[in-house]
Amino acid sequence: MEIIKPKLEYEKFNGIKIMKNIERACRTCYRSEDTITEDSYKKLLKNCITRGHESVLEHEKITVRFTCDIGVYKDLTRHRAGASFSIESTRYCNYSKDKFTNNIKFIEPIYSDDKEKFKVWKETMENIEKGYMQMAALNAAADELRMMLPHSTAALVTMTCNIREWKHVFTLRCSKHAHPAIRQLLIPFLLHLKKEMPEIFDDVPYDEDFPKEKYAKIAVMKD
Ligand SMILES: Cc1cc2nc3c(=O)[nH]c(=O)nc-3n(C[C@H](O)[C@H](O)[C@H](O)COP(=O)(O)OP(=O)(O)OC[C@H]3O[C@@H](n4cnc5c(N)ncnc54)[C@H](O)[C@@H]3O)c2cc1C
Repeated sequence: MEIIKPKLEYEKFNGIKIMKNIERACRTCYRSEDTITEDSYKKLLKNCITRGHESVLEHEKITVRFTCDIGVYKDLTRHRAGASFSIESTRYCNYSKDKFTNNIKFIEPIYSDDKEKFKVWKETMENIEKGYMQMAALNAAADELRMMLPHSTAALVTMTCNIREWKHVFTLRCSKHAHPAIRQLLIPFLLHLKKEMPEIFDDVPYDEDFPKEKYAKIAVMKD
């Protein structure tokens, strides 16, 4: 058994290029392509967003890869409009095999600082892994083994959303009402996007009281 931290990797993007591409598409509406300057996208985007003319944000997308638990990916995949997913399949991945280093990886729960709760959680995961490996020794297929996997099981999720949908996902999933495990991943990414594309993401609210030391690591996708 391996306990790993959640993380988010994003496909490298150029925020200014994204905003300029959106501007170019949007100016089709007014045939005002001739007014484009080095920074005309700033005012245009602010105006569009304030007035609810947000379909223009659908022209650009960002892809991220999460290492998250099954609970988080259940939440992520509820987003249907403007979002696409490829998710590690527990029907095909058999964690008893060498390819998976013969163990199940679990995402460290957000309450890992609470020694008593963490102890109970860890013992439960150890028992689950023991049962999984016993079933695997009986030649159970991955399809059968997956019935034993808990929400804490680690999974890779590649998610692509257009910019409009990302704003919506952040609004719902970075709020106090969302599960802490999804806030942990999405708040630091939202903060990064606010820095890279303030004209687009400035107005997205988030839980500012969420403990910063719990933020997941975010990085550019390397492979
Ligand atoms: C705090 C919280 C608690 C939740 N609790 C539960 C729960 O207990 N049980 C549960 O089942 N779900 C729960 N959900 C999931 C929630 O109901 C949504 O399914 C999920 O957040 C996806 O959001 P969305 O519907 O806006 O979808 P998206 O796919 O992100 O859609 C974006 C927007 O497109 C429009 N849209 C998309 N599909 C349609 C459609 N079919 N018809 C009309 N307009 C559409 C809507 O305007 C929508 O806001 C919860 C979500 C949150 C944030």
